[in-house]
Amino acid sequence: MNLFSPNLHKFNCIRLHSKTHLIFSCNFNLSSITMNNSPSNSRTSTSATQSESSQHQMVPELSYDEMIRISEETMKRYSSNSIPKRKGKGVGIVWFRNDLRVLDNEALFRAWLSSEVVLPVYCVDPKIFNGTTHHFGFPKTGALRMLFLIECLDDLKKKLMQRGLNLLIQHGKPEEVIPSLVKAYGAHTVYAHKETCSEELDVERLVKTHLLEVKLPVKTGPVKNQSATNSAKLELIWGSTMYHLDDLPFDCSNLPDVYTQFRKSVESKSSVRSCIKIPTSLGPPPDVEDWGSVPAISELGSHEEKIRKGMRFVGGETAALTRVHEYFWKKDLLRVYKETRNGMLGPDYSTKFSPWLASGSISPRVIYEEVKRYEKERHSNDSTYWVLFELIWRDYFRFISIKYGNHLFHPGGPRKLKYTWSQDVGLFEAWRDGRTGYPLIDANMKELSATGFMSNRGRQIVCSFLVRDMGIDWRMGAEWFETCLLDYDPCSNYGNWTYGAGVGNDPREDRYFSIPKQAKNYDPEGEYVAYWLPELRSLPKDKRNFPGHFYIKPVVSLKHGNVNQTFAKNRVPRRR
Ligand code: FAD
Repeated sequence: MNLFSPNLHKFNCIRLHSKTHLIFSCNFNLSSITMNNSPSNSRTSTSATQSESSQHQMVPELSYDEMIRISEETMKRYSSNSIPKRKGKGVGIVWFRNDLRVLDNEALFRAWLSSEVVLPVYCVDPKIFNGTTHHFGFPKTGALRMLFLIECLDDLKKKLMQRGLNLLIQHGKPEEVIPSLVKAYGAHTVYAHKETCSEELDVERLVKTHLLEVKLPVKTGPVKNQSATNSAKLELIWGSTMYHLDDLPFDCSNLPDVYTQFRKSVESKSSVRSCIKIPTSLGPPPDVEDWGSVPAISELGSHEEKIRKGMRFVGGETAALTRVHEYFWKKDLLRVYKETRNGMLGPDYSTKFSPWLASGSISPRVIYEEVKRYEKERHSNDSTYWVLFELIWRDYFRFISIKYGNHLFHPGGPRKLKYTWSQDVGLFEAWRDGRTGYPLIDANMKELSATGFMSNRGRQIVCSFLVRDMGIDWRMGAEWFETCLLDYDPCSNYGNWTYGAGVGNDPREDRYFSIPKQAKNYDPEGEYVAYWLPELRSLPKDKRNFPGHFYIKPVVSLKHGNVNQTFAKNRVPRRR
């Protein structure tokens, strides 16, 4: 079902196309982040609760100069001065995918080690930037993630140039671009990070096949006449998780189906590998006539607008390393992470590392080593451990994607259950646009559209509401998240959605999130909902989540827990 198809009338969603684009067109202020400018101009000192609607908060919030200084300091710590001996000959290509970083980048390191010259390449793949989601036809990459990725590329290009290289940016499918570069430069090997989900695996297969079709001139010397040297190899490297695939105490086909078993097992039987130390100089660069420039968002078929409120994440490795420094060292928030992590408002309740992890601007091993350094130099407690606990969740969903393959995307999920889901577009649109009549849902969905981010607590609540209260096909929600999230990654997204929908790896049968209970526990004063729904600000704090007739009428009633009853109960003590 393609929600952008001519059959729209069938689903009563004629306005969907234009509305979706409205959402995408109202988000960003590129004047503050054009590639050659420092993002610092637009920084604000506004607190998250401030009511001015034109304020947004930069993440990280440090100035551009500070970001550069911190990133350089960190780069030094994770770089190697003792230059290992380069063993290789000829040209090696690094095909950058979701690993847009220099630090702890094994593909880059291996290419450097086994060749005389490295050619770093990024393909602006039309399938990613102009394609649509699998079933429901939403944009594959929303404008906010596009912008974030553009910033990642800009930062990567600069970082490579600082080390004597550059980034070749080519528009086109990797399966066409990479083999043609291999041919043009006579490259012996293409180094890239391995992915695990079907769309990414398809691209890997195609690149491999097309490489075989490129016949390179036979080399002179000892390898002369060996047919194996006639075509370049694709060397795929594991590098997205904290625990390495090869270090797991079991084969992925025997991966435990319960997270706790997985975690205990890796914690007791595996260890996290050290980060790869990258040499300070990676040159000489190849002779490239035109390195290409980082695309403007308009070249990717989208456009730039202001982000007016909420968090504005800065893309790139520089920002990622700065955020680690800011969260761990400068603000000392790692010390209290376990107590604050379920918050919803502002940058500080949780690490906010996920957008940079998803784009590969930072590796989980760098975060691991920084946690260990913090524990040694400052403080070690449940909170410092809990960040690693959460990163193991991330690993888990990545390995689950290997074990279950495309079942992660099927309606019945890894458990292969048979449910009948509704695809009522009217209800889905109410959820998507934040007009369900439940402030907690609406505020979260508005935050997602406006910023590309939503807290983990919010994601669980809106997932439960869509699936369990509205009875809507969880894949519609997952695909909408795929469009919008800055941190979208197929394993974590579909893993969490199947989990929340009860078709994934969850030992609990009915993971229902009661809105009244969640509101009371996590937004007791209604600060969060009032931030995103200004019309609720004038209400007394205890009514903002339960506004009754002061807010739009709920589109469905709740499966468990009646909001009005809760509201009535809440009001009794106040009357007395
Ligand atoms: P923190 O609380 O600071 O945690 C630190 C890191 O641990 C995160 O950056 C993330 O990498 C990892 N992590 C934490 N919780 C989870 C989790 N449940 N699953 C996987 N990794 C986790 N996360 C994504 O990175 N990409 C997604 O596409 C994604 N989709 C989600 C969809 C749903 C329905 C739900 C319920 C969760 C989803 N998550 C996803 C997981 C989680 O919500 C985000 O990783 C988290 O909110 C990011 O904020 P943070 O970096 O401040 O997290």
